[in-house]
Amino acid sequence: MPLARSWRGLVAAGFVGLAVSPAWGQDPDEAALEDQWVIGNLVFLAYHEVGHLLLDQIVQADQRGNRLQAEQSADDIATWLISPDPAEEIESSEAVAAIGGWLEMADAGDDVGAAHLPDVDVYPDAVTRASRIACLLFGSDDSEPNAFAPLEAVAALRFEVADCRQTYLSLDEGMEELFGDADDIGDQPVARVRVQYDSVGPALAEAREFLIDSSVLDALREDLVEYIGLPVDVLLRGAPCGRESPGFVYNPSRREIVACYEEVDWYLFGEPENGAAGAEQDAAAADGLGARPRRIPPRPPPPPPSSNPRRQ
Ligand SMILES: [Zn+2]
Repeated sequence: MPLARSWRGLVAAGFVGLAVSPAWGQDPDEAALEDQWVIGNLVFLAYHEVGHLLLDQIVQADQRGNRLQAEQSADDIATWLISPDPAEEIESSEAVAAIGGWLEMADAGDDVGAAHLPDVDVYPDAVTRASRIACLLFGSDDSEPNAFAPLEAVAALRFEVADCRQTYLSLDEGMEELFGDADDIGDQPVARVRVQYDSVGPALAEAREFLIDSSVLDALREDLVEYIGLPVDVLLRGAPCGRESPGFVYNPSRREIVACYEEVDWYLFGEPENGAAGAEQDAAAADGLGARPRRIPPRPPPPPPSSNPRRQ
């Protein structure tokens, strides 16, 4: 397992002190930690798309007019919705997993030489996305010492740490406004949310299975219906997105959030080697608001089961 493929990517990058956290290095179940990291990243991407969904269906914002701003807002909404309470273990939080995920992506060089990233200009770069999540988490706690102090160095990569508190408070105010009408959910849920998992060929079967087992979409459905409580109408669909998978994507006209199996596969197994060419692109992916620059080539079908390398 590459070192960066866990929250320990933060440690490797010198941001979080391994020595001060006894949990590190003592956890007997490496695979469970790895799965938790993958799930944390998937949760962030799903809530990023919830950001686009809320901006579309509740705020009725023009997201295509200023994509960069829309992408940052979607990240901010995701961070606010999944940010851990300062009292929680930050190492195991989904938002911190996402910081590690963006830093890993930056590490992999996806911010440069972007010939295969046609949408790269409409997204903040990966380091900025990691840094902003860290800044917002750092700014969310005004106690002394700050519960998110280990993230300060990541926040400082792109932002003035002294301003993070105000950045968080502005976001918090905006979110309170957004959710202002949602405090009385009662027995009459106003959200219409369905979950569906499209079938897929053998190359992405394990990714589909992982997504189902992770309950990321089912938990999101519950969150939208039971807790967020705004009148949204959306299908949460696991699906193969084909060529140039956008990660996860929200499609306003189809009212769908698509969790691309290619993205789950990428977090589980890394970059596909010898990516297959010519896969059909899913219609929802072609015209949606994605989670990151398009970049994942389709994985070719696996060899026969006897020699199929499994994730360690
Ligand atoms: Zn987006």
